[in-house]
Amino acid sequence: MPLEQNKIKENEKESKCPYCNNRLVSGFIYGSHYPLTWLPESKKLFLGMAMGGESIGTFKGRPRVKGYRCEQCNKIIVNLNEE
Ligand SMILES: [Zn+2]
Repeated sequence: MPLEQNKIKENEKESKCPYCNNRLVSGFIYGSHYPLTWLPESKKLFLGMAMGGESIGTFKGRPRVKGYRCEQCNKIIVNLNEE
């Protein structure tokens, strides 16, 4: 399947909430000074730092990750493959 077609399929899939089927609003979660970091709940911050964490999203300028929000469920689905 061509890449472009793949992208459209993925966007269609993400336009509905998988929990309640409500429409999703696309947007970004912005950070401020530091790259956004994923840290599994099993790991704890060490002196306020996410040691062993994984930087996620982009951080050219303001750090951000792309997400799709369901206002009904109050959930945001983050897609780490999108910028
Ligand atoms: Zn929902």
